[in-house]
Amino acid sequence: VSASTNSRHMKPTLLVSRLYQPSNLRDVGQDSFLHGEMTCKSQRLMQQAGLIHPSNPGCYYYLPATVRSVEKLIRVIDQEMQEIGGQKLDMPSLCSAELWKASERWDLMGKELLRLKDRHGGDYCLAPTHEEAVTTLVAHQTSLSYKQLPLLLYQITRKFRDEPKPRFGLLRGREFYMKDMYSFDVSEEAAYQTYESVCQAYTRLFARLGLHCVQVQADTGNIGGKLSHEFQLPADIGEDRLLLCGNCSFAANIETVSSDRTDCPQCRTGTLVESKGIEVGHTFYLGKKYSSVFNATFSNAQNKLAEAEMGCFGLGVTRILAAAIEVMSTEEGIRWPGLLAPYQVCVVPPKKGSKVDKATIIAEELVQTLTVTLPRLRGEVVLDDRTQMTIGRRLKDASKLGYPYVVVVGQGALEEPSRFEVICQQTGATMFLSQEGLLDLL
Ligand code: ATP
Ligand code: MG
Ligand code: MG
Ligand code: MG
Repeated sequence: VSASTNSRHMKPTLLVSRLYQPSNLRDVGQDSFLHGEMTCKSQRLMQQAGLIHPSNPGCYYYLPATVRSVEKLIRVIDQEMQEIGGQKLDMPSLCSAELWKASERWDLMGKELLRLKDRHGGDYCLAPTHEEAVTTLVAHQTSLSYKQLPLLLYQITRKFRDEPKPRFGLLRGREFYMKDMYSFDVSEEAAYQTYESVCQAYTRLFARLGLHCVQVQADTGNIGGKLSHEFQLPADIGEDRLLLCGNCSFAANIETVSSDRTDCPQCRTGTLVESKGIEVGHTFYLGKKYSSVFNATFSNAQNKLAEAEMGCFGLGVTRILAAAIEVMSTEEGIRWPGLLAPYQVCVVPPKKGSKVDKATIIAEELVQTLTVTLPRLRGEVVLDDRTQMTIGRRLKDASKLGYPYVVVVGQGALEEPSRFEVICQQTGATMFLSQEGLLDLL
């Protein structure tokens, strides 16, 4: 996507004209046939900006800008999971029916499980989650000692679910990215501590992304287990109904609260208020449900074999991205959590043939200066070289894509001292800054 500039010593500049972000507006007719109405903002904005392209119901091409953003999110998730001792692995998506029959989920999962046969007639599924797989893996290690616990294994992979209603773009896909972590502990008490530390890591993660999630008591569903919380991002488009106490910290998914209850079961004085949320994460304490089925044992301090206490912890990676866009964006343009924007800065030179043509060279130099002076911005600054278009048109596009910073290099750049117009798209603020001022800001 880059083309070299005039000097051989300069780094190639990322040019907007070369970025692959096709707009899908032409296909809207067919899309609405395949995907129902584009009823949600994140789906519409992501398709219009060339971030995703529909393939079949609930499946999307993740186009380059989206992949950049997902990779950034994965880096933040990796940091938080490794901070609490998580070790990353990668398990097969193609999973033998044997395992799923052993846990009885082959039948329990019903139509949501995507099943297929191999050439020998063997039954398989495309994994929607990996409790069976990871527990079998750990069970294979006969020498596992209590000294090696807690063991926290996680992966970030594609998951497959034949959702009855795939919709809202990346919010509910049939193929999507999930981070799933599985914990193995020596005792119930130790497992609760692990559970708590993962919840804290999730809270830190969402705070870093600038997302105000609520942790609510949740149903354990077909995963099983005793204790469970969801991390919900309040939004009208959300498919979960939450009850929050106006007086204390009580928060629960409505599924867990006995019907018609309006008084808070925790403080008893507050009133429960209903709101909608997007489930972006889910934590479960599993106990021995899977370790007993698959015989995942460790040798304890008395040198006796004991079944591990387990937990499992999901994060909807692609759902988090779409949910963030859903709650942060305006109707016209995407706004990203700063950490996840595909590119941080867009530099806009004047229209070709205008009386400030010289500013184009200044703009190219500015891109170089930014990336050389601030290594953090390497690969993060794009030059909108579509100089056949007016500045206004390109600013409109920049607003649609939501670069956190847009720098207009116009008349002011030629003056002494030179000044650049800087638009902070997250706040909407516009400033006129010198090059030093711009470097300080970034
Ligand atoms: P939902 O209630 O929305 O169907 P779930 O409870 O079935 O989600 P979990 O089994 O808890 O999902 O999976 C862990 C996480 O994976 C969820 O918290 C969510 O963020 C994400 N996720 C689940 N299903 C999807 C999907 N169809 N598309 C995108 N992300 C999903
Ligand atoms: Mg589901
Ligand atoms: Mg759910
Ligand atoms: Mg869930």
